[in-house]
Amino acid sequence: MRRAKLSIIGAGAVGATCAHWAAAKGLADIVLVDVPDKRGLTEGKALDLAESGPVEGFDVQIVGTDDYAQTADSDVVVITAGVPRRPGMSRDDLIQTNVKIVSEVTSRVAAASPEAVLVVVSNPLDAMVYAAWKVSGFPQQRVVGQAGCLDVARYCTFIAMEIGCSVEDVRALLMGGHGDDMVPLVRYTTVSGIPATQLIAPERLEEIVQRTRMGGGEIVKLMGTSAWYAPAAGVIQMVESIICDKKRILPCAAYCEAEYGVGGYFVGVPCVLGGRGVERIVEVELDAEERRMFEASVARVKALCRTVDGML
Ligand code: NAD
Repeated sequence: MRRAKLSIIGAGAVGATCAHWAAAKGLADIVLVDVPDKRGLTEGKALDLAESGPVEGFDVQIVGTDDYAQTADSDVVVITAGVPRRPGMSRDDLIQTNVKIVSEVTSRVAAASPEAVLVVVSNPLDAMVYAAWKVSGFPQQRVVGQAGCLDVARYCTFIAMEIGCSVEDVRALLMGGHGDDMVPLVRYTTVSGIPATQLIAPERLEEIVQRTRMGGGEIVKLMGTSAWYAPAAGVIQMVESIICDKKRILPCAAYCEAEYGVGGYFVGVPCVLGGRGVERIVEVELDAEERRMFEASVARVKALCRTVDGML
């Protein structure tokens, strides 16, 4: 039986860590791609990771290259190519540079793997997924962005820290764009089935929500650049659901037309992710305040996409 094939474009902090999590799970053969100037570094990272196989007990093939021919017929392609933010920058500040990079790499991966599912990671996320969709010409179900899995993971981490319980018991949902205006849904947060609102005082929950919104910035401030372990873990959670056709319901940047009244943009919503990509968008009830926050977040995404339209 043919093993699944995963290509990861951009072998920097997030891309290499995606390869690490995917290899550790034995998910797929992996092709790590970066620019020609970094060929040695990319080959070296792939070889170093492959050499951890005997210790960790995975058998997947891992290749580092600058040659897109090696990505041919991938089942999933993860796009992390682009610049990350530095202290004082917002994700939106990256748009001019990253639209060009994401467009270029998307056209190359789409030509090499016309049946792949694209998982976009580069920021500003919601706008980069939109750019990748436009450039690839792929059906919208096969283009999706990672942000919500990370944001939910951060939120669940903070909830578990607050309660002093296992992170395994925390379940949560978060919607909207991948910006500081994302919408964590406190009403849908549970700990072993118990509503979090019964375990944490409202003002502390609000502080946790706020910390989640600014979670990316918290790491940038500490490290001088953006995060990679948790973002990559979120990406591979999605990739696993696609490759193994698990049909998990995960918060992803997915194309919404009539859904939530979005009107043809990629925003964070709960989706069924399976072998064909985004197989269904799950519409949950939003109260007036949640809807107001969601719509404000969507408005920001639309403005970014108009900038992308002007650049493609
Ligand atoms: P990084 O600088 O460590 O790595 C980016 C890599 O992309 C570099 O190795 C660079 O050489 C490569 N690259 C640039 N142009 C390329 C091209 N044309 N072809 C192939 N590779 C190219 O950055 P990082 O920390 O890995 O972050 C990557 C991107 O992911 C950034 O845009 C960052 O903002 C974003 N990010 C997104 C999330 C999320 O949750 N969606 C989280 C963290 C970071």
